[in-house]
Amino acid sequence: GGFQSMGLSYPVFKGIMKKGYKVPTPIQRKTIPLILDGKDVVAMARTGSGKTACFLIPMFERLKARSAQTGARALILSPTRELALQTMKFTKELGKFTGLKTALILGGDKIIATPGRLVHVAVEMNLKLQSVEYVVFDEADRLFEMGFAEQLQEIIGRLPGGHQTVLFSATLPKLLVEFARAGLTEPVLIRL
Ligand code: AMP
Repeated sequence: GGFQSMGLSYPVFKGIMKKGYKVPTPIQRKTIPLILDGKDVVAMARTGSGKTACFLIPMFERLKARSAQTGARALILSPTRELALQTMKFTKELGKFTGLKTALILGGDKIIATPGRLVHVAVEMNLKLQSVEYVVFDEADRLFEMGFAEQLQEIIGRLPGGHQTVLFSATLPKLLVEFARAGLTEPVLIRL
């Protein structure tokens, strides 16, 4: 199965070609079809595995449908400012032809933020998480190591029903598995 057999729309496929990807990486082959199918997914994947495209490609497909929503429709949580910046750059490159807007921390169609900052911003600027339909916990073990568990629970609690959640993590400690069981809907576990 290559990218051409995943049923992707032309703007998304074009972005993949522009990045020069010829074939999906193993984690991409396993997770992209499931996420496209609307499943909540917990995947064990390290930096370098191609994990970012795993959650970005289905995100573009999900968001391409027009929505009456005015707020942000996808939320990507990153443990550090550096990763958030890197993910935003990647989102803009890969999603170049989708017409979707990306913002760091707030605004636009998607939000990429570190959790502590997001809760702060949510309170201060009355950020509406009510329109969010797709949530990513990136490098989730690091989010937890950094002591964001409480904020992550708070964010999950503010999200509307029916949203899709995907979680990527290099390791899956017990705490994280428990968090996924409680906060995600029948998550499919993917490990290579
Ligand atoms: P990541 O694990 O998401 O940090 O990605 C690691 C690197 O792999 C990045 O430079 C990506 O642009 C690149 N990459 C992701 N998917 C592919 C692919 N299917 N083929 C070649 N390179 C890729």
